[in-house]
Amino acid sequence: MKSFDILVLGGGASGSICAIRAKSLNKNKSIAIIDNQNRIAKKLLVTGNGRCNITFENMIDKAYNQNIDAFLNRFSNFDLLDYFKNLGLLCFCEEGRYYPLSNSAKSVVEIIENAIDNLDIPLFLEHEICSISKDGEKFIVVTSKEIFECNTLVYALGKSDKLLENFDFDCKERFPSLMALKTKENLKNLQNIKVSNVKVTAHLDSGESDTEHGEVLFKEHGLSGVCIFNLSALFARNQVKNGLISIDLMPNYTYKSLEKLLAERKNTLNVTIKHFFDGMIIRPLNYYLLNKLKLQEDRPCFTLTQNEISNMAFIIKNLTFSVCDFYENNQVFSGGIELDNLDGNLQSKKYDNLYIIGESLNVDGKCGGFNLQWAWTSGFIVGSKI
Ligand SMILES: Cc1cc2nc3c(=O)[nH]c(=O)nc-3n(C[C@H](O)[C@H](O)[C@H](O)COP(=O)(O)OP(=O)(O)OC[C@H]3O[C@@H](n4cnc5c(N)ncnc54)[C@H](O)[C@@H]3O)c2cc1C
Repeated sequence: MKSFDILVLGGGASGSICAIRAKSLNKNKSIAIIDNQNRIAKKLLVTGNGRCNITFENMIDKAYNQNIDAFLNRFSNFDLLDYFKNLGLLCFCEEGRYYPLSNSAKSVVEIIENAIDNLDIPLFLEHEICSISKDGEKFIVVTSKEIFECNTLVYALGKSDKLLENFDFDCKERFPSLMALKTKENLKNLQNIKVSNVKVTAHLDSGESDTEHGEVLFKEHGLSGVCIFNLSALFARNQVKNGLISIDLMPNYTYKSLEKLLAERKNTLNVTIKHFFDGMIIRPLNYYLLNKLKLQEDRPCFTLTQNEISNMAFIIKNLTFSVCDFYENNQVFSGGIELDNLDGNLQSKKYDNLYIIGESLNVDGKCGGFNLQWAWTSGFIVGSKI
């Protein structure tokens, strides 16, 4: 059996920063990390499309499913940038998101590896953790290769909270979040079309809603893009798969001013209804709208009635899709172990010296570096305490 003062289970974002911080403050304590991958923080390599959006610039509305200001105030996005700078990582900000200056997630993993090497933190990689239990004051961790014991245990296993089943914690069921949404409508004709500067609103049956501004990408059977990923969090946090997505294709126009614009176009354009939206809404999305309006397309546009113009304005501002499922490849999970189980330092209220950090907890954020920031913040706070 291998014995350590502190064992960090999981060498992802939260576990690695936690171990680095803890070891740098407690050179005399023995600290090790156990992970099933063959490289520390390996998952970071795929984040942010290989660029790793490490944190955000400004807080946004509903960024997290709950208020975690008390934690962020102790280790903020800017504290993180300073901390990483001291470890050697330079970053830059692009549209409110911070990335490594190299534009590669590899740089983040490399500085984490360097820090772990410098501090001589033993890594037990390719160890699948099979069980965790308590024997008196000690925690016993059984992996596919070895048995470990420690006085202090940090649980940083990301989406997997199953290994705490020997312990009594309130847990919210996990639901995938930050992913594309499937729609009842077949959108084959719109596949790969992207619309920008749109306003997108998600409505749930419960009456809850959320709005995003930006880009939407159409898929054969659904909708994607950052706006949709962020709105998927509303579905995940409410644990439902059904609802509506409504797109306002021209948010800079009010309904009335859009009606006026369409009435002017009707009088000035010398085209059939089929081409009435050309120059205003890209093909084939404009054909999709006309199809929904059920207008006879070879009519000259000057024959449009006031009622038809009003219907056009309505559909442009309320293009609605029925959400019926999620696409796979979600970025995070909503749900997990409730923060109420822990004290202000993320230590279990019931089990002394057991800490939980990162995605294992019921804290989920929107796209834009919010999820990694939670991993860094929670890891740093625990690393400073143990
Ligand atoms: C494709 C993708 C892109 C993303 N992009 C971004 C982004 O750009 N910005 C952002 O803020 N967030 C992003 N996220 C979310 C972000 O990666 C997570 O929020 C973050 O990694 C959570 O950190 P963590 O330390 O809690 O868990 P993880 O990083 O998941 O670390 C957990 C570690 O535990 C190990 N482990 C799990 N179970 C076992 C076991 N039984 N035995 C041994 N080891 C185990 C895992 O291999 C892993 O190394 C992205 C997620 C995905 C999937």
